[in-house]
Amino acid sequence: MANIDRAFIDQVLASTDIVELIKEKVALSKNGTNYKGLCPFHNEKTPSFNVSSNKQFYHCFGCGASGDAIKFLTEHDHLTFIEALSKLAQAANIEMPDSTKKNDTTYNLFISNKKAADFYNRTLKSNNNANAYLTKRDINQTMIETFQIGLANDSWDDLTKIFTKDKIIENALEAGLLIKSNNKIYDRFRNRIMFPIRNSTGNIIGFGGRIFNQQDGAKYLNSPETKLFHKSYELYGLYESKKSISQEDKVLIVEGYTDVIGLHNSGIKNCVATLGTAFTKFHFKKILRYTNNITFCFDGDVAGKSAAWKAINNCLPELKDGVQLSLIFLPEGSDPDTFVKEEKDEFLNLINNAMPLSQFIIQSLKSNLDINSVEGRTAFLINAKKIIDEMPDITYTTILKKEFENIGGNTIRKDIAPKVEAVNKESSTQKDHFDIKELTLINILLEYPSLLEDSTYAKYITNSVLIDIYESALKEKKMNKNFSAAHIINRYTDDHIIHKIMTMQSNEKSEDSARLTINEIASQLEKNSNEDIYFDLLNRYSNGDKLSDDERQFIKNFKK
Ligand SMILES: [Zn+2]
Repeated sequence: MANIDRAFIDQVLASTDIVELIKEKVALSKNGTNYKGLCPFHNEKTPSFNVSSNKQFYHCFGCGASGDAIKFLTEHDHLTFIEALSKLAQAANIEMPDSTKKNDTTYNLFISNKKAADFYNRTLKSNNNANAYLTKRDINQTMIETFQIGLANDSWDDLTKIFTKDKIIENALEAGLLIKSNNKIYDRFRNRIMFPIRNSTGNIIGFGGRIFNQQDGAKYLNSPETKLFHKSYELYGLYESKKSISQEDKVLIVEGYTDVIGLHNSGIKNCVATLGTAFTKFHFKKILRYTNNITFCFDGDVAGKSAAWKAINNCLPELKDGVQLSLIFLPEGSDPDTFVKEEKDEFLNLINNAMPLSQFIIQSLKSNLDINSVEGRTAFLINAKKIIDEMPDITYTTILKKEFENIGGNTIRKDIAPKVEAVNKESSTQKDHFDIKELTLINILLEYPSLLEDSTYAKYITNSVLIDIYESALKEKKMNKNFSAAHIINRYTDDHIIHKIMTMQSNEKSEDSARLTINEIASQLEKNSNEDIYFDLLNRYSNGDKLSDDERQFIKNFKK
């Protein structure tokens, strides 16, 4: 969030009511002290989208979307952080510090990219040659508008001139639009059809350029990796397709941007493409936010099969029960763009009969092996075991393992987990186990932060996550007069914890009743902890330990 003063952000958030803000866009009904409605970020019939007035935070129990008022505007209205902040500041009648906009590099890079996209788009309009090429490829005006397609002229400095004029050349260099070499600055993209690449909120983060009337040069040229643009995280077409992906609850993954455009043109709008890289686990996690049903589309040739194998291997460690992965392979030499144009029915038919993940894995493992021989089955089981070892401990893995064993005719032994992993597992269960009393205590403190002032509850909290929340809340309260629970919750990326905190509603009507409840809980927790000490002392006593006078006194006074 750039160099913006945290206190300023807090001041804006404290002057905003998240319930009022969201109510303008989502129908909400009261549910205890929270509000509930249909989630605007995923497709659902029963409301699982919760907004807490006390915590100034929203959370969807369905898709996991969550955040404060600023996050809501960035995700829902596709604003940048600064835009969202200034919108809220304006509504609250608070003036934005002058330095804010200037200092926000993310914002500046978005602006540079937008400026370039507009320029390329205008350039395209006046170039018959390029338009003829697009028409020949069936990219019509609607697609040009939807995907903001443009043209970089055959020139070294068209874009450079634009940015020089506005003296924002440094931003354009950082965005990868221009190149500086030997003290000369020139355009990165020349003589190419330009495809802006947007992030999921619609801001342009980079470009793909494709040659169209020349023989030399790489067919495709992407923006370099920048602060905004990371190829292994981003998917082309996600912004344009995300609504269809959620509505149809499935996605088709293809390999090129022209495939995404071609599919959209044929009415198949739930598709995205990788940007010249393999499909990574980051892509996988990103797309799971929109749907659990993923179909990959690859070329039927050797390169396509190997790309498929790589993509699947990247997904396996992140697999969850309920996620359906499947694959289709097009006839050799055809790409989705042309195939769907010529034989849409056949294409849809392929998708509907896509090969399930398990079948693909088994087929790949069996290829080149004689499964009728002992050697073949041994090799099969060795490779199958590697797959299983990569997979999480879910039902799907168990069933797939059985399937492998049936084919290989022997059991696959599970490795004894390395010690480090065992320790991690243990501590994560400890982290996940929340005592209801401790959780309630934390929740009331987050809802009534003034109670933090005379707070002496630290000694009763045993869960490490809750201790962390408690300490952050204390610190926040001391430092910040605009205490915000949202700020504390925002620090957690773990869905499970946010989920827990947002499930809790104190239903306290006033600070006084909240104080009574919290004291009651504290005394119960104190009793628990005294009980622990009591049994510990008894234990030591019966083992022949010598107890101090104080300890003896404690046993005497202890009432169960
Ligand atoms: Zn949702």
